[in-house]
Amino acid sequence: MSAVTDDLRPVAARWLTGIELLIEWNDGHSSAFMTDYLREQCPCAWCRVERKKDPRERDLLAMRPTAQALANPSVEPVGRYGIRINWGDGHSSGIYPFTYLRLICPCPDCSQAKRPG
Ligand SMILES: [Zn+2]
Ligand SMILES: [Zn+2]
Repeated sequence: MSAVTDDLRPVAARWLTGIELLIEWNDGHSSAFMTDYLREQCPCAWCRVERKKDPRERDLLAMRPTAQALANPSVEPVGRYGIRINWGDGHSSGIYPFTYLRLICPCPDCSQAKRPG
């Protein structure tokens, strides 16, 4: 995780609509985020609260977004530090800082780096 710094930013980003968001980073790394994974990691206050609840008490929309939500997401830049994702079901309160996106990068290298020990 030492690779995640404030200087980190994407040099290229591309949506494969409804499938995944591809990001190339300025340190040469690249990430591929499945849209359902991105939505499940939504950093907005509401989703964070839902994720902490007992699974039986969670709002399913927070955990298992509908096909409509994932079908046509759009992205807008937020300052110089992140992106906001506007999901197909109108959920758009999640701002994903670049540092956060890099932390949740699902590639084997990053997953291994995050594992303690
Ligand atoms: Zn959210
Ligand atoms: Zn990675």
